[in-house]
Amino acid sequence: MIQLFIPLNFLGFVYREIRQSLANIERLFGLLEKPVKVEDRPGAPDLHVTAGTVRFENVRFRYHPDRPILEGVSLEIPAGQKVAVVGPSGAGKSTLSRLLFRFYDADRGRITIDGQDIREVTQDSLRRAIGVVPQDTVLFNESIAYNIAYGRPDATPEEIREAVRLAHLEDFVSRLPNGLDTVVGERGLKVSGGEKQRIAIARMLLKDPPILVFDEATSSLDSGSEKAILAALNEVASRRTTLVIAHRLSTVMDADNIVVLENGRVIEQGTHLQLLEQDGAYRRLWEHQHESGSPRGSSTARDFDP
Ligand code: ATP
Repeated sequence: MIQLFIPLNFLGFVYREIRQSLANIERLFGLLEKPVKVEDRPGAPDLHVTAGTVRFENVRFRYHPDRPILEGVSLEIPAGQKVAVVGPSGAGKSTLSRLLFRFYDADRGRITIDGQDIREVTQDSLRRAIGVVPQDTVLFNESIAYNIAYGRPDATPEEIREAVRLAHLEDFVSRLPNGLDTVVGERGLKVSGGEKQRIAIARMLLKDPPILVFDEATSSLDSGSEKAILAALNEVASRRTTLVIAHRLSTVMDADNIVVLENGRVIEQGTHLQLLEQDGAYRRLWEHQHESGSPRGSSTARDFDP
C-alpha cells in the first residue's frame, strides 16, 4: 500500500507542478479564459535551432471569424538581431508573440524558425527555445532568488547573482531586508512593475533561450526604472534573436529593424533614422511625442496610442 501510495503521491505532485507551470505561462499571456487548442502533430520532431532566424510569412489571423486581426503580415527577425514592432493599441502586436509561442495557429501563411514551420515541431521544444518577458510578470510568494531561478531550479547562487547584476537588480536586492532570500509579499514587500520586468529578464538570462520576446509593459515607468529596464534588456538581447513588442519609442530607437503595424498590416519598416526620413506614420508618432513635451527617448506615456 505504501509502495503504491508514494508513486501516486509523486505523480500527483508532478501533475500539479505541470498544471501550475501551464497556468503561469497562460496567465503571462492573459489567456486563461481561452482554452489552448493547438496540438502536436503525431510524431512531430523537436525544433532544432541552428542560428535562430524567425520569419512570419504572409500571416493571417483572427480570434473570431468576423474580425481580422492580422492580414498578410510578413517580417523577419534575422538571427541575433533585435526587431521591434510598434503601432496603436489593438494593432495586433502582442498577437504576433502569441502566434510565435503557438498559443494559436495562423489561419494562413506560416511562421518559421530556421526554416522549420513551427506547426511541424513539438510545442515543448518550441517553447524551450523562446524566452518571454511578459508585460505583467507573475511572481510567486517565494524568495526573490526562487523567483529568478524559476525555470532553472539547478542554477547556482553565483549564476543567480550574475543574473541579478546583468538585469540591473543589484540596487533593488541590496535594499531588501534579507537580500535574495526576501520573500515576495511578506512584511508588505512590494515589487514595482519595472522591478518585476527586470526579475523576468534575470529569469531569461538564466534560462538562456536563443530567441527572446520582450513584451514591454504598457504602464508608465519613472525614467530611472525605464533606463534600468532598457539596460537589462540590452544585456539579455545581445546575441539573441529578439522581438520587442514596444509601447515606447525609447525602447525601439536602437533596434535593427522597426516594424510599424496598423490594423493588422505592416505599413512601414526600417531603422529609426530610415523611418524618420520616410516621413510616414512612424515620423508622425515621433513628432507627436515631441509635441507632447516628452524629452527625447524618455516618454512615459503610451506613445503609440491615439
Ligand atoms: P496593446 O498595444 O494594447 O497591447 P496590441 O497591438 O498588442 O495592443 P493585441 O493584444 O495583439 O493588440 O490585440 C489585437 C486585437 O485582438 C485587439 O482588438 C484585441 O481586443 C483582440 N484580442 C486580443 N486577444 C484576444 C482574444 N483572446 N480573443 C479575442 N480577441 C482578442
